[in-house]
Amino acid sequence: ERPATPQLSVKPENPDKMSTTEQTFIAIKPDGVQRGLVGPIISRFETRGFKLVAIKLVTPGKEHLEAHYADLKEKSFFPGLISYMNSGPICAMIWEGLDAVKTGRTILGATNPLASAPGTIRGDYALQTGRNICHGSDSVENAKKEIALWFKEGEQVSWKSALESWTYE
Ligand code: ADP
Repeated sequence: ERPATPQLSVKPENPDKMSTTEQTFIAIKPDGVQRGLVGPIISRFETRGFKLVAIKLVTPGKEHLEAHYADLKEKSFFPGLISYMNSGPICAMIWEGLDAVKTGRTILGATNPLASAPGTIRGDYALQTGRNICHGSDSVENAKKEIALWFKEGEQVSWKSALESWTYE
């Protein structure tokens, strides 16, 4: 059975804590890098209005990937997931902006690409859960943990976007 298509909502996840500096960790997985999708994926976040504050190409070891996916270590697909993530370079990024975590997930699409709406990254470029091109944090708390795992202090760049007053009211 397919997972439900994510519901689009006009309300930010935490209306009381609306922040234009919310950060999410987005990674282009090895299949996305190999398939030449770094540009199109960056473009979707950039043109939506999010601000790139950190980016690097990395090939993390298995220990790092096991820590990233620690919550899934009991799953039968875990060893395959780790080999897949270890199969080539990953483009690791931090994107910042209003409701970045939840909206980032909407831009990626559902975990299973067959359930992802057209117009989402997975819905436009992928067919299988085991080759779903991209990762995005699923909560603000996990975004903080993932950013701390993937980036060192000093790798984030703080800058003021000239488009800010055209993106936010
Ligand atoms: P998401 O990446 O959308 O947050 P999960 O946290 O559930 O999804 O899973 C993490 C990653 O593990 C998925 O993006 C996918 O690459 C892989 N995965 C999840 N379920 C399966 C599965 N049934 N078979 C193979 N790989 C899977």
